[in-house]
Amino acid sequence: MAEKSVSQMLKETLFYDPKPATVRLSDEELAAADRYCEGYRAFLDRSKTEREAVRSVVELAEARGFRPFDRKAPLKAGDKVYVNNRGKALLLAVIGTRPITDGVSIAAAHIDSPRLDLKPNPLYEDHDLAYFDTHYYGGIKKYQWPTLPLALHGVIVRRDGTSVNVCVGEDPDDPVFCVTDLLPHLATEQMKRTMVEGVKGEDLNILIGSRPFRDDEGSELVKLNILKILHEKYGIVESDFLSAELEAVPAFPSRDVGFDRSMIGGYGHDDRVCAYPAVTAILETERPAYTAVTILADKEEIGSEGNTGMQSAYLKYFIADIAAAFGEEGRHVLSQSVCLSADVNVALDPIFPEVVEARNCARINGGVVLTKYTGSRGKSDTSDASAELMGMIRSLMDGADVVWQIGELGKVDIGGGGTVAKYIADLDVDTVDLGVPVLSMHAPFEIVAKADVYMAHKAFSALLNRS
Ligand code: MN
Ligand code: MN
Repeated sequence: MAEKSVSQMLKETLFYDPKPATVRLSDEELAAADRYCEGYRAFLDRSKTEREAVRSVVELAEARGFRPFDRKAPLKAGDKVYVNNRGKALLLAVIGTRPITDGVSIAAAHIDSPRLDLKPNPLYEDHDLAYFDTHYYGGIKKYQWPTLPLALHGVIVRRDGTSVNVCVGEDPDDPVFCVTDLLPHLATEQMKRTMVEGVKGEDLNILIGSRPFRDDEGSELVKLNILKILHEKYGIVESDFLSAELEAVPAFPSRDVGFDRSMIGGYGHDDRVCAYPAVTAILETERPAYTAVTILADKEEIGSEGNTGMQSAYLKYFIADIAAAFGEEGRHVLSQSVCLSADVNVALDPIFPEVVEARNCARINGGVVLTKYTGSRGKSDTSDASAELMGMIRSLMDGADVVWQIGELGKVDIGGGGTVAKYIADLDVDTVDLGVPVLSMHAPFEIVAKADVYMAHKAFSALLNRS
């Protein structure tokens, strides 16, 4: 082998030149990543909504010895507890051996995803076809949603207070639903619209039936027939939609992507691809030094609002309750705590390279992406992690052989976005974003690399088990 030149050796010492996971990881580690992602895909496919994600995780956690948190019961190192916040958000904790006032380690992901929610009064008939009217949830490109098979997930609370869960379209024998689009032959005017207006929000109506109720004459017989079917299956009447949360999501399961099967395509990677690793990391945590906490939040996609979103006080109250079990105050725990805000970031897409700045953008297979700040314009709406925290996290990850990269959310002034990071930072917690790079973020079929998903698991494990 030729000897290295002086400049070559100097470059190796001085330059920042991160190598991708596909180069740095051994065959065994890549195989471990593939195996890990089998579990992830199974979780993803049965957790398409926040409520389903909570149910899946409670099941996994209880199997690993987690119990509902009782704020009146004493806590000791190794105890595993959880708090189910209204079936839509979840807190998990493993009590550490160090004093609680040394702070806790937090991995915080969200489990809601962009989708089409049914309106409160959704059912109508038009020209002998029955529809559900929707109001989209989160940042979607509306043109991506017509002509996809859709499944309906959620809950209906009946007039008498009883409730029924709904999940139609996931079983291969189930029917699916669909938003229709205009044929190109007659789309001359539509094609002149901008992509924002190409498919309008009020046109995202889901086709749900076409056969009339046959026994009688009258109007709205297709709608009547649908209601009759729903009444028989769920015991509901039309007004029960007024107290329901029904979400239309892509009906297909996740799939391996590529001849090499190196990637996963599916609905809802944002942010289950961080939620699942944050969960597996805490499930494998036995007696940590610092108390380990995993949070799965709702409502991130609409600004973390509401009592299940990260702007709510439930994390603060939970930490206060844990602190109280040791005779301490929550604020003295929070101020010493460290949080990885676990959310996805943009991966460089060679088809759209102009929106990112290559030296500061994550790549597929580059490992987990550490994001110092998100926000938009001049760092508006972001917590911007400190140099000290960045230093601590990078040494933590390097010490655990985590393949990681740095990434910004796009070029300066080209757009932007936010995560739950700033709401946790607002609680006086040292917080920085760390997550998985994604192609086609917020699309009905998003893409991630298996090696990056596994690195997220290793990164959250390193945080929750720090000494
Ligand atoms: Mn997200
Ligand atoms: Mn998102």
